[in-house]
Amino acid sequence: MTGGNKTPSNTGLSGVIRSSFLSCDELIEGVLQYDPDVDKSQLRLAYEYAREKHGLQKRKSGEPYYAHPVNVAKILIELRLDSTSIITALLHDTVEDTDASLKELSELFGTQISELVDGVTKLTKLEVKSIRSRQGENLQKFILAITKDIRVLLVKLADRLHNMRTLHFFTDTKKQERIARETLDIYAPLARRIGMQKICSELEDLSFQFLDPQAFITTTKRLSLVRDHNTRAVAQLSENLTKVILDSGYNAVIYGREKRAYSIWNKLQRKNITFDEVADVYAFRIIVDSVEDCYAVLGLVHTSWRCVPDRFRDFISVPKPNHYQSLHTTVIGRGNIRVELQIRTSNMHRIAEQGVAAHWRYKQGEYVFDEAIGGNPLDLLKPLLEIIEFGGDPDDFLEHTRLEMFQDQVFTFTPNGKLIALPEGASAIDFAYAVHTDIGDECVGVRINGRERHLRTQLQNGDSVEIIRGGRKEPPQDWESTVVTGRARSAIRRLIRKSELKEFRKFGKRLVDRILVSNQLDGKVNIAEAAKRLEAKSVTNLYVKLGRGLLTGSEFLDAVFPGRSRDETKSVYKRELITDETADFFVGGEGLSRGVSLHISKCCSPIPGDRIIALPKRGQGFAVHVVDCEVAIDQMEAGIDPISLSWTAHAKKEGASVGRILATVVHRSGSLAEIANAVGVSKGNIMDVKTLSRGQDFFDMLFDIEVLDAKHLWNILAAIRACACVDSAERVKGQDLE
Ligand code: MN
Repeated sequence: MTGGNKTPSNTGLSGVIRSSFLSCDELIEGVLQYDPDVDKSQLRLAYEYAREKHGLQKRKSGEPYYAHPVNVAKILIELRLDSTSIITALLHDTVEDTDASLKELSELFGTQISELVDGVTKLTKLEVKSIRSRQGENLQKFILAITKDIRVLLVKLADRLHNMRTLHFFTDTKKQERIARETLDIYAPLARRIGMQKICSELEDLSFQFLDPQAFITTTKRLSLVRDHNTRAVAQLSENLTKVILDSGYNAVIYGREKRAYSIWNKLQRKNITFDEVADVYAFRIIVDSVEDCYAVLGLVHTSWRCVPDRFRDFISVPKPNHYQSLHTTVIGRGNIRVELQIRTSNMHRIAEQGVAAHWRYKQGEYVFDEAIGGNPLDLLKPLLEIIEFGGDPDDFLEHTRLEMFQDQVFTFTPNGKLIALPEGASAIDFAYAVHTDIGDECVGVRINGRERHLRTQLQNGDSVEIIRGGRKEPPQDWESTVVTGRARSAIRRLIRKSELKEFRKFGKRLVDRILVSNQLDGKVNIAEAAKRLEAKSVTNLYVKLGRGLLTGSEFLDAVFPGRSRDETKSVYKRELITDETADFFVGGEGLSRGVSLHISKCCSPIPGDRIIALPKRGQGFAVHVVDCEVAIDQMEAGIDPISLSWTAHAKKEGASVGRILATVVHRSGSLAEIANAVGVSKGNIMDVKTLSRGQDFFDMLFDIEVLDAKHLWNILAAIRACACVDSAERVKGQDLE
């Protein structure tokens, strides 16, 4: 069906009536400006196709509908995007709003275009469905849809920009507000993330107008009042600035930059300051020829005007993650007005305004995205993708995405002087993960500005942060709630999941070994075959499933011996159940099926000798709790029936349980040695020591001690209490104190 492109002749839309949108020829002319080799016939085909398909459809403005895709294309032409993006823009609404199909698009324009249009269409469908509370989930799908090709996002941003520019034609104010809110929450931050500052600012200001019209008007008015009031002083400074720079022989273009209403309003809201305190309402950009000139001009400026010390930033030697480069400084002019200056080259300027879009250029005769300049643009979205990959909760995702993008940043440095920008409130743990996931995973301590500090210390602007690495098996559980960056949080979750998985695998492997030994099948069974039969992806996966209790030992035996008689299972598994590496055994448990896995719960960490019960754990067999564990009591009160359980003699014999003791210790040298000695004499083995809090005279310490059973732990506890340096000591259950 290719007849669609033969439309009736152009009836002078571009000629006679001066329309508010580009004609086909004007559009092609626009692309030719920067890509002279572009395939004109494809552009024409796309233009005519959009016009025919949208037919008599109209926009709210009264314009023919196809004016919209043409305007979206125009935005992208201004950004000098490649023809693939321009064609996608022209076609972006055809599949969603007309009888055009992806199949037809791929026949006419090729699969790349049809896939891009499909991507944009998917995003459009998401926004229709998005309800505020579920937007996080939509955003995940959204991000996944743009990961294949950054151009999907670029077209979508241009689409949203044009829709925002024409939003005033809507009469439904609720709808206006919803669209504006979504723009402010999602599209503007995404634009910023990929460095498209200009589009981001326009989206923000347009949204602001609809979300808070009164505030918009007030802010805009006050801005112009302040400007009028200081016109002369600013003009004079501008004049002097130009003179100083040009007199010294530098080639520079200087122009004023007006602060945007939304960014001012945002500062007023977040920082609890008055309008007049937003002193840097004036800003100039100085565009020079080279990097050297940037620094030379900075020197000139600083020798001619007083600068505000803490406002100087060098984003040339340490670019922002989105490749933004510039020198920032604020100087004080006559009448004490503060003026912010941004000094950069024209290349830096284009990247500052257009971000990712500035990286398309001619390379070996082709107009392509040049990775050598900007790297893979999707890298910029990586922190967001990581959260999805690690299975972040949708609401978390939204919260963290917004947090990282909107919050004020603190600028910190690695020992090598590399800049790490973090959201306000970030701790040393966030820092470690921001540097590298491995460093986060291994961090055990931190030196901030040369002094050893707690890992949870909140970082301040300018901090020099040195992470101390050491072997650590799993992250303390409360880390997850301490960190503020999504990257750190999801990495910590992944680590926890990984160590859980390892544990389950060990459980499962042990279970298999025991089943095989007790059935005299050791070495005679192909476990890989059994795994296949049980639809486990691998032997490891089989172990994990058994360990989690998703498969029972009996089911495993069935798979090893299809058609075996049930009675062949050896009786040992009827009553004794394996839990973990240390092979603690339990007896009892009416209602526990054979081979189900039992796990020592971390909330109360029972050890042999404790009175225990088992409670079902969803998808993971049963959890063993101490009878008076609060978590267990809560569950029982919620109606979950416990299964009574007790330790076997074997469990005590095997030993290697870990008990935890919290002691308040007098602050003096030799205290720790005294306690260690007491524990040793009682035949306990200190596995881990942690200092929780340090007071003037006392500090709280947490000891993990390997013990045989509960009775052994009580003996050790008594020995610790007997130490002269110990004020008090008690057994603690669980990890909540870490
Ligand atoms: Mn559209």
